Amino acid sequence: MKKIITVTSPLLPNLDEFQGSLKDIWEKKWITNNGSYHQKFEEALAEYLKVPYVSLFTNGTLPLITALQALRITGEVITTPYSFVATTHALWWNGIKPVFVDIDPNNGCIDSNKIEAAITPKTTAIMPVHVYGTPCNTNDIQDIADKYGLKVIYDAAHAFGVEVKGKSILNAGDLSTLSFHATKVFNTVEGGAIIMHDEKTKQRIDYLKNFGFASEVEVVAPGINSKIDEIRCAYGLLNLKQIDAAIEARHQVYIKYHNALKEVNGINIWDSSPGVKHNYSYFPIFVDAEKYGMTRDELYFKMRNDNIYGRRYFYPLISTFSTYRGLPSASKENLPIATKMADEVICLPMHHALSDDDIQRVIRCIKKNHK
Ligand SMILES: *Cc1c(COP(=O)(O)O)cnc(C)c1O
Repeated sequence: MKKIITVTSPLLPNLDEFQGSLKDIWEKKWITNNGSYHQKFEEALAEYLKVPYVSLFTNGTLPLITALQALRITGEVITTPYSFVATTHALWWNGIKPVFVDIDPNNGCIDSNKIEAAITPKTTAIMPVHVYGTPCNTNDIQDIADKYGLKVIYDAAHAFGVEVKGKSILNAGDLSTLSFHATKVFNTVEGGAIIMHDEKTKQRIDYLKNFGFASEVEVVAPGINSKIDEIRCAYGLLNLKQIDAAIEARHQVYIKYHNALKEVNGINIWDSSPGVKHNYSYFPIFVDAEKYGMTRDELYFKMRNDNIYGRRYFYPLISTFSTYRGLPSASKENLPIATKMADEVICLPMHHALSDDDIQRVIRCIKKNHK
């Protein structure tokens, strides 16, 4: 039987070094609540990501929920249906009504030309997603936000390390959130962060993630517990040392896929955007059934039969799930591009440890099924 090729594989720290960190933590007996590894990891991340402030979290969903709390977002928020469900769930958990806007076929992100038509007197914010780590049209989105007095929170779960013209994409908007889940480019097993521009906002968010405690006796807000522990901060510090090499390995995979697949009739892929430092977090292909001679699902299951496990990110669209499908903005008519992309997409196996044999097997499978 052929080896299974999975869509991703976690970047793991060197085990000996991690054991050294564990020994140190065991000696210090400080295992959570802003210990020395937490502080070091926050500083190291801010430096690596070229952002002013980072607040660490225990996963990538609580930063979304907390960012909305921190900015006191209410009413309606404009967002994209083409994402992981957590984006919209974070709104629901805050009692906010999601308003879905269609996406741009060129980058998969919310179509900034369609945002204004979705604004109502209840709109308070826009929550776009840099899907696959491809930057949204952040300038256009900011212009709209400024014109209508809206906040912008980016779900940047895919955008670790992504830069535009040498500047971090994580500096766009009011706040950006990251996920360090095992399946992401950079992982701490589970983990996440909020990126902010100023110290006051960092302080408020640090309070919110620790029950609202501002001191031993003072609770300033109905906060939550979303702290990350020392063990995962130590793990993250070690992974940070090898993230550049891991992203470069992904870049090499990207080049091979891109060269081999760009000529395949019916397989649409994106070129990298000029001026953007990508993180190669995903490699989406879009199957045009007519031209390719097979539907996306047919190819997806052919790949599975060959032990190649792609993933249909993002299918089904969030707007089709039972919680959201009754919303007026969730209709197919409102979301034709997102609906089409969700029906055509397969994310190919993409990670730092793919061998050339693995890559060639994926390419052969896609080429041989072509009519
Ligand atoms: C992974 C992901 C999240 C959630 O992160 P977790 O760490 O799994 O909680 C949120 N949004 C997007 C777009 C994601 O891909």
